[in-house]
Amino acid sequence: MESWELIIIGAGSGGLAAGIYGARSGLKTLVIDEKLAGGTAADAPIVENYPGFPQIAGGELAQNMTLHCKKAGATIHEIETVTALELKEDKKIVKTTRAEYEAKAVIIATGSHYREIGVKGEKEFRGKGVSYCGVCDGPFFKGKRVLVIGGGNSAATTTLYLSGIAAEVVVTHRRDAFRAEEALVKDIASKENVQVFWNTEVKEIRGEKFVNKVVVHHKKKGETKEIEVDAVFVQIGEAPNSQIAHEAGLDVDEHGYIKTDVFQRTNVAGVYAAGDVTSHPVKQVGTAVGQGITAALEAYSYIKRPYYRR
Ligand code: NAP
Repeated sequence: MESWELIIIGAGSGGLAAGIYGARSGLKTLVIDEKLAGGTAADAPIVENYPGFPQIAGGELAQNMTLHCKKAGATIHEIETVTALELKEDKKIVKTTRAEYEAKAVIIATGSHYREIGVKGEKEFRGKGVSYCGVCDGPFFKGKRVLVIGGGNSAATTTLYLSGIAAEVVVTHRRDAFRAEEALVKDIASKENVQVFWNTEVKEIRGEKFVNKVVVHHKKKGETKEIEVDAVFVQIGEAPNSQIAHEAGLDVDEHGYIKTDVFQRTNVAGVYAAGDVTSHPVKQVGTAVGQGITAALEAYSYIKRPYYRR
């Protein structure tokens, strides 16, 4: 069995920041991700609120963080899925699709996954017009009419990105106001090819081979109608990837987010959590980075017990 001092599960912003700090502290550090490194920040069309970068594509920011983590000395294993964890105080075992590792400390930075809207047609047309990522799939709909569902920052940034590609962007939101940041809301209002349907819920996604319409219901007017669209971008938030950690004994809140204290410690000694998988109320690249740093420095103290941090 391979031995590491620190194993970080998840190579998103939180995991990569932890990797940089873990490796720079001198810990033999492994970062494992079931996909390519970068996390969901890589899906963001444009990031405008990460300090030091007034405007940067999410993919570029994620790539920079990945390179930085490798340069700091961490090893990154991509396309390797963690299948089970054994998290005891004296020994931590990480089992994956490729190997079994032993670690002195573990940081869970597994992030979250896109929530589904749960309507008829959503699963059937996934990859055939139904998407959860504007950057990944938006370019397929150049000059078309696309729909974005949601009212938060994800829906807003995706709408703005798609407005530069599609001929027309329709947004449906179940309320009469966005919850997205004011700057994004203002930008949306200034786009001539964006139309917002307030108080509106999507009830069904229809099509033949590909999506061609959705059935929408206006909650206040009680009206149901079809609108023609070529794609549906579901942007209604996220849910934590915490199942394996919870099965291994980590405490989670009522929504499944891992509970931590301000040092990112979980209920198991030597096990930490950082980023979107935690119950921290703010889910931003910047907060994930901060949590990852804190977790790595705590893991360092736990493993090495330096005289100045006992
Ligand atoms: P979010 O803030 O939780 O917003 C989800 C939106 O989807 C809400 O408007 C919600 O409506 C709507 N919604 C939820 N379930 C729905 C359903 N079943 N049917 C229809 N609508 C539904 O999620 P998010 O926008 O993905 O953002 C997640 C986190 O990432 C947030 O903390 C956000 O600030 C952050 N983020 C930041 C940026 C950035 O540029 N700063 C970009 C993306 C994400 P209600 O309003 O009615 O609840």
